[in-house]
Amino acid sequence: MMMKANFDGHVHTAASDGLFPAEEVLRRASAAGIRCLAITDHDRTNPDCLAQSRQSGVTVVSGAEITARAHLPGLQPFTVHLCAYFIDPLDGPLNRLLAANRSGGGQVYLRAVLEKLDDLGIPISLKEVLAGGQGHVSRKNIARIMVRKGYVGSVQDAFRIYLGGSRPGDQKLAYVDRSAYFSFASMEDVVRHVTAAHGLVSLAHPLLYGLDDAGLRRLTAAFARCAGRAGCLECHSPACSPRQRLALTRLAEAFDLLPTAGSDYHGEPEDRFLPGPPAIYGDLLRRAADLYGALGEYGGAL
Ligand SMILES: [Zn+2]
Repeated sequence: MMMKANFDGHVHTAASDGLFPAEEVLRRASAAGIRCLAITDHDRTNPDCLAQSRQSGVTVVSGAEITARAHLPGLQPFTVHLCAYFIDPLDGPLNRLLAANRSGGGQVYLRAVLEKLDDLGIPISLKEVLAGGQGHVSRKNIARIMVRKGYVGSVQDAFRIYLGGSRPGDQKLAYVDRSAYFSFASMEDVVRHVTAAHGLVSLAHPLLYGLDDAGLRRLTAAFARCAGRAGCLECHSPACSPRQRLALTRLAEAFDLLPTAGSDYHGEPEDRFLPGPPAIYGDLLRRAADLYGALGEYGGAL
Protein backbone atom coordinates (compact mmCIF):
# COMPACT_ATOMS: atom_id res chain seq x y z
CA MET A 1 0.00 0.00 0.00
CA MET A 2 1.25 3.44 -0.79
CA MET A 3 1.69 5.60 2.27
CA LYS A 4 1.39 9.34 2.36
CA ALA A 5 4.42 11.61 2.60
CA ASN A 6 4.45 15.36 2.82
CA PHE A 7 6.17 16.81 -0.22
CA ASP A 8 7.60 20.23 -1.01
CA GLY A 9 7.90 20.25 -4.79
CA HIS A 10 9.80 23.52 -5.33
CA VAL A 11 13.10 24.09 -3.52
CA HIS A 12 16.30 25.90 -4.56
CA THR A 13 19.90 25.41 -3.46
CA ALA A 14 23.12 27.31 -4.06
CA ALA A 15 23.50 25.30 -7.28
CA SER A 16 21.27 28.05 -8.68
CA ASP A 17 20.14 31.11 -6.72
CA GLY A 18 19.36 29.59 -3.31
CA LEU A 19 21.42 30.69 -0.32
CA PHE A 20 22.41 27.25 1.02
CA PRO A 21 24.07 24.15 -0.43
CA ALA A 22 21.83 21.09 -0.74
CA GLU A 23 23.11 19.48 2.50
CA GLU A 24 22.09 22.52 4.53
CA VAL A 25 18.73 22.84 2.74
CA LEU A 26 18.00 19.18 3.48
CA ARG A 27 19.06 19.54 7.11
CA ARG A 28 16.64 22.44 7.49
CA ALA A 29 13.86 20.63 5.61
CA SER A 30 14.26 17.57 7.80
CA ALA A 31 14.15 19.75 10.95
CA ALA A 32 10.93 21.29 9.61
CA GLY A 33 9.39 17.82 9.30
CA ILE A 34 9.61 17.54 5.50
CA ARG A 35 10.06 13.92 4.41
CA CYS A 36 10.19 14.42 0.71
CA LEU A 37 11.13 17.31 -1.57
CA ALA A 38 12.18 18.10 -5.09
CA ILE A 39 15.28 20.20 -5.61
CA THR A 40 14.26 22.37 -8.53
CA ASP A 41 17.21 24.59 -9.32
CA HIS A 42 16.88 26.95 -12.24
CA ASP A 43 17.57 25.36 -15.62
CA ARG A 44 19.72 22.54 -14.27
CA THR A 45 19.08 18.97 -13.18
CA ASN A 46 20.24 17.52 -9.87
CA PRO A 47 22.34 14.42 -10.57
CA ASP A 48 23.12 14.09 -6.83
CA CYS A 49 19.53 13.44 -5.79
CA LEU A 50 19.99 9.77 -4.90
CA ALA A 51 23.11 10.40 -2.81
CA GLN A 52 21.39 13.35 -1.12
CA SER A 53 18.41 11.12 -0.25
CA ARG A 54 20.68 8.51 1.31
CA GLN A 55 22.68 11.02 3.32
CA SER A 56 19.83 13.19 4.59
CA GLY A 57 16.99 10.75 5.19
CA VAL A 58 14.77 13.08 3.15
CA THR A 59 13.60 11.63 -0.16
CA VAL A 60 14.98 13.96 -2.83
CA VAL A 61 13.05 13.81 -6.09
CA SER A 62 15.05 14.53 -9.20
CA GLY A 63 13.78 17.92 -10.37
CA ALA A 64 14.47 21.18 -12.17
CA GLU A 65 12.69 24.50 -12.60
CA ILE A 66 12.80 25.26 -16.29
CA THR A 67 12.25 28.67 -17.87
CA ALA A 68 9.98 28.61 -20.90
CA ARG A 69 8.23 31.04 -23.22
CA ALA A 70 4.47 30.83 -23.45
CA HIS A 71 2.98 31.92 -26.76
CA LEU A 72 -0.77 32.40 -26.46
CA PRO A 73 -2.83 33.85 -29.29
CA GLY A 74 -3.64 37.50 -28.64
CA LEU A 75 -0.99 37.95 -25.92
CA GLN A 76 2.65 38.93 -26.29
CA PRO A 77 4.91 35.95 -25.47
CA PHE A 78 5.86 35.80 -21.79
CA THR A 79 8.08 33.74 -19.51
CA VAL A 80 6.72 30.92 -17.34
CA HIS A 81 8.43 28.45 -15.02
CA LEU A 82 7.85 24.73 -15.26
CA CYS A 83 8.92 22.36 -12.46
CA ALA A 84 9.96 18.91 -13.66
CA TYR A 85 9.82 15.83 -11.41
CA PHE A 86 11.32 12.32 -11.62
CA ILE A 87 13.39 13.27 -14.68
CA ASP A 88 16.51 11.34 -15.56
CA PRO A 89 19.04 13.99 -14.43
CA LEU A 90 21.59 12.80 -16.98
CA ASP A 91 19.24 12.83 -19.97
CA GLY A 92 21.27 14.28 -22.87
CA PRO A 93 18.64 16.19 -24.87
CA LEU A 94 17.09 17.68 -21.71
CA ASN A 95 20.48 18.83 -20.43
CA ARG A 96 21.25 20.38 -23.82
CA LEU A 97 17.98 22.32 -23.68
CA LEU A 98 18.83 23.51 -20.15
CA ALA A 99 22.33 24.55 -21.19
CA ALA A 100 20.85 26.56 -24.07
CA ASN A 101 18.42 28.21 -21.62
CA ARG A 102 21.34 29.17 -19.34
CA SER A 103 23.56 30.54 -22.06
CA GLY A 104 23.07 34.03 -23.29
CA GLY A 105 23.74 37.54 -22.17
CA GLY A 106 23.51 37.08 -18.41
CA GLN A 107 25.77 39.96 -17.44
CA VAL A 108 24.36 42.26 -20.09
CA TYR A 109 20.91 41.51 -18.70
CA LEU A 110 22.00 42.19 -15.12
CA ARG A 111 23.61 45.44 -16.20
CA ALA A 112 20.31 46.54 -17.78
CA VAL A 113 18.47 45.87 -14.49
CA LEU A 114 21.15 47.74 -12.51
CA GLU A 115 20.90 50.72 -14.86
CA LYS A 116 17.17 50.94 -14.19
CA LEU A 117 17.75 50.72 -10.44
CA ASP A 118 20.44 53.38 -10.69
CA ASP A 119 17.95 55.68 -12.43
CA LEU A 120 15.65 55.11 -9.45
CA GLY A 121 18.38 56.17 -7.01
CA ILE A 122 19.48 52.64 -6.09
CA PRO A 123 23.14 52.31 -7.07
CA ILE A 124 24.42 48.73 -7.09
CA SER A 125 27.46 47.60 -9.04
CA LEU A 126 27.66 44.49 -11.20
CA LYS A 127 30.71 43.48 -9.16
CA GLU A 128 28.65 43.41 -5.96
CA VAL A 129 26.00 41.28 -7.63
CA LEU A 130 28.45 38.80 -9.11
CA ALA A 131 30.24 38.48 -5.76
CA GLY A 132 27.00 37.27 -4.17
CA GLY A 133 26.21 34.64 -6.77
CA GLN A 134 27.47 31.10 -6.64
CA GLY A 135 25.83 28.83 -9.17
CA HIS A 136 23.55 31.23 -10.94
CA VAL A 137 23.22 34.98 -10.63
CA SER A 138 19.68 36.28 -10.85
CA ARG A 139 17.32 38.99 -9.67
CA LYS A 140 17.38 37.24 -6.27
CA ASN A 141 21.00 38.26 -5.85
CA ILE A 142 20.17 41.87 -6.65
CA ALA A 143 17.20 41.74 -4.27
CA ARG A 144 19.40 40.52 -1.42
CA ILE A 145 21.79 43.44 -1.90
CA MET A 146 18.82 45.84 -1.92
CA VAL A 147 17.75 44.42 1.46
CA ARG A 148 21.26 44.56 2.85
CA LYS A 149 21.64 48.20 1.83
CA GLY A 150 18.27 49.09 3.32
CA TYR A 151 16.42 50.04 0.12
CA VAL A 152 13.68 47.48 0.82
CA GLY A 153 12.64 45.45 3.84
CA SER A 154 12.68 42.02 2.21
CA VAL A 155 13.50 40.15 -0.98
CA GLN A 156 9.76 39.83 -1.50
CA ASP A 157 9.37 43.62 -1.42
CA ALA A 158 12.25 44.03 -3.88
CA PHE A 159 10.30 41.89 -6.35
CA ARG A 160 6.92 43.41 -5.53
CA ILE A 161 8.11 46.97 -6.09
CA TYR A 162 11.12 46.85 -8.42
CA LEU A 163 12.16 43.56 -9.97
CA GLY A 164 9.07 41.43 -10.45
CA GLY A 165 6.70 40.97 -13.33
CA SER A 166 6.57 38.91 -16.44
CA ARG A 167 3.94 40.01 -18.89
CA PRO A 168 3.71 43.48 -20.40
CA GLY A 169 1.45 45.51 -18.11
CA ASP A 170 2.56 43.64 -15.01
CA GLN A 171 6.15 44.81 -14.93
CA LYS A 172 7.58 46.59 -11.92
CA LEU A 173 9.82 49.67 -11.88
CA ALA A 174 13.14 48.02 -12.72
CA TYR A 175 11.85 45.01 -14.63
CA VAL A 176 13.82 44.02 -17.72
CA ASP A 177 12.51 41.38 -20.11
CA ARG A 178 15.06 38.57 -20.10
CA SER A 179 13.89 37.25 -23.44
CA ALA A 180 15.85 40.06 -25.11
CA TYR A 181 19.04 38.56 -23.62
CA PHE A 182 18.31 34.83 -23.47
CA SER A 183 16.55 32.54 -25.90
CA PHE A 184 14.37 30.37 -23.71
CA ALA A 185 12.75 27.25 -25.08
CA SER A 186 9.02 27.28 -25.79
CA MET A 187 6.64 25.72 -23.28
CA GLU A 188 5.87 22.94 -25.77
CA ASP A 189 9.55 22.18 -26.28
CA VAL A 190 10.24 22.05 -22.54
CA VAL A 191 7.31 19.69 -21.98
CA ARG A 192 8.47 17.46 -24.82
CA HIS A 193 11.99 17.21 -23.38
CA VAL A 194 10.79 16.61 -19.81
CA THR A 195 8.43 13.81 -20.81
CA ALA A 196 11.11 12.25 -23.02
CA ALA A 197 13.29 12.20 -19.86
CA HIS A 198 10.42 10.39 -18.03
CA GLY A 199 9.32 13.36 -15.99
CA LEU A 200 6.11 14.94 -14.84
CA VAL A 201 5.86 18.68 -15.40
CA SER A 202 4.11 21.31 -13.28
CA LEU A 203 3.19 24.86 -14.20
CA ALA A 204 4.83 26.72 -11.29
CA HIS A 205 3.30 29.60 -9.28
CA PRO A 206 0.50 30.22 -11.82
CA LEU A 207 -0.66 33.38 -10.03
CA LEU A 208 2.66 35.16 -10.57
CA TYR A 209 2.21 35.76 -14.28
CA GLY A 210 -0.10 38.75 -13.86
CA LEU A 211 -2.95 37.06 -15.75
CA ASP A 212 -6.63 37.66 -15.12
CA ASP A 213 -8.92 34.64 -14.64
CA ALA A 214 -9.56 34.22 -18.37
CA GLY A 215 -5.84 34.52 -19.18
CA LEU A 216 -4.90 31.99 -16.51
CA ARG A 217 -7.48 29.58 -17.91
CA ARG A 218 -6.03 29.99 -21.40
CA LEU A 219 -2.47 29.45 -20.17
CA THR A 220 -3.57 26.38 -18.21
CA ALA A 221 -5.46 25.02 -21.22
CA ALA A 222 -2.44 25.51 -23.51
CA PHE A 223 -0.15 23.89 -20.96
CA ALA A 224 -2.54 20.97 -20.38
CA ARG A 225 -2.83 20.41 -24.12
CA CYS A 226 0.89 19.86 -24.51
CA ALA A 227 1.59 18.18 -21.13
CA GLY A 228 -1.28 15.67 -21.28
CA ARG A 229 -1.16 13.07 -18.49
CA ALA A 230 2.30 14.26 -17.43
CA GLY A 231 0.88 17.69 -16.54
CA CYS A 232 0.54 19.17 -13.05
CA LEU A 233 -0.38 22.56 -11.62
CA GLU A 234 1.28 24.16 -8.58
CA CYS A 235 -1.88 24.79 -6.57
CA HIS A 236 -0.27 25.37 -3.18
CA SER A 237 2.36 28.05 -2.72
CA PRO A 238 3.02 30.31 0.25
CA ALA A 239 1.65 33.45 -1.39
CA CYS A 240 -1.71 31.80 -2.17
CA SER A 241 -4.67 32.29 0.15
CA PRO A 242 -6.78 29.22 1.02
CA ARG A 243 -9.40 30.49 -1.43
CA GLN A 244 -6.80 30.79 -4.22
CA ARG A 245 -5.51 27.28 -3.47
CA LEU A 246 -9.03 25.95 -3.80
CA ALA A 247 -9.59 27.84 -7.07
CA LEU A 248 -6.30 26.49 -8.47
CA THR A 249 -7.17 22.95 -7.37
CA ARG A 250 -10.50 23.25 -9.24
CA LEU A 251 -8.64 24.59 -12.28
CA ALA A 252 -6.26 21.61 -12.12
CA GLU A 253 -9.23 19.22 -11.95
CA ALA A 254 -10.92 20.91 -14.90
CA PHE A 255 -7.86 20.26 -17.08
CA ASP A 256 -6.94 16.88 -15.58
CA LEU A 257 -3.69 18.22 -14.11
CA LEU A 258 -2.33 16.83 -10.83
CA PRO A 259 -2.08 19.45 -8.06
CA THR A 260 1.38 20.06 -6.62
CA ALA A 261 2.68 22.09 -3.69
CA GLY A 262 5.88 24.11 -3.61
CA SER A 263 7.43 26.71 -1.34
CA ASP A 264 9.93 28.14 -3.86
CA TYR A 265 12.34 28.03 -0.91
CA HIS A 266 15.54 30.01 -1.47
CA GLY A 267 16.71 30.19 2.15
CA GLU A 268 15.66 33.81 2.73
CA PRO A 269 14.80 34.57 6.37
CA GLU A 270 11.10 34.75 5.44
CA ASP A 271 11.09 31.48 3.45
CA ARG A 272 9.32 28.44 4.90
CA PHE A 273 9.00 24.94 3.48
CA LEU A 274 5.55 23.96 2.32
CA PRO A 275 4.55 20.35 2.93
CA GLY A 276 1.31 20.54 0.95
CA PRO A 277 -1.61 18.14 1.30
CA PRO A 278 -0.32 14.62 2.05
CA ALA A 279 -2.02 12.87 -0.89
CA ILE A 280 0.00 14.81 -3.46
CA TYR A 281 3.20 12.79 -3.48
CA GLY A 282 1.49 9.42 -3.82
CA ASP A 283 -0.61 10.75 -6.71
CA LEU A 284 2.49 12.02 -8.50
CA LEU A 285 4.30 8.76 -7.96
CA ARG A 286 1.37 6.70 -9.22
CA ARG A 287 1.04 8.91 -12.31
CA ALA A 288 4.75 8.69 -13.09
CA ALA A 289 4.67 4.91 -12.63
CA ASP A 290 1.62 4.71 -14.91
CA LEU A 291 3.37 6.65 -17.62
CA TYR A 292 6.91 5.37 -17.35
CA GLY A 293 6.96 2.20 -15.25
CA ALA A 294 7.99 1.58 -11.63
CA LEU A 295 10.09 4.21 -9.87
CA GLY A 296 11.81 1.98 -7.35
CA GLU A 297 14.13 4.48 -5.74
CA TYR A 298 11.24 6.79 -4.86
CA GLY A 299 8.63 4.17 -3.96
CA GLY A 300 10.99 2.51 -1.51
CA ALA A 301 11.15 5.59 0.66
CA LEU A 302 7.39 5.86 1.14
ZN1 LIG B 1 11.53 28.67 -8.07
